[in-house]
Amino acid sequence: MASAVRAADGRIITGLNVYHFTGGPCAELVAIGAAAAQGAYDLTAIVAVGDGGRGIVPPCGRCRQVLLDYFPGIRVLLGSGEHVRAVPVRDLLPESYVWADHQS
Ligand SMILES: [Zn+2]
Repeated sequence: MASAVRAADGRIITGLNVYHFTGGPCAELVAIGAAAAQGAYDLTAIVAVGDGGRGIVPPCGRCRQVLLDYFPGIRVLLGSGEHVRAVPVRDLLPESYVWADHQS
C-alpha cells in the first residue's frame, strides 16, 4: 500500500507500508510521519492505494481515529473511477471518541 497526503501549503507527501510479518504501520501513518518530518503539520487530504490494481483503499479503523484526532478537518479520498470523492473524516467515524475532547 502507498499513501499520499496534501498539506495546506500544497505539498504532496507520500508514504509506503513496507510489509513485514511482525506488522507495522499502515501507509497512511507513514505518510503522516513523513509529512511531520518535513514540517507539514496541517494536512487537508489523504488517499491510500493498494498494489495489484486495487485502486483506492479506505483507511482502517485505527487510521480513521488517528486522522480524526490529528486532522479533524481532513478529507479522505474514497471510491473509484469517476466516483472518487473527498469525504470529511468525521463522516467516517460518526459519534466517535475524540481524544482532544477529553483532555483537561
Ligand atoms: Zn490503517
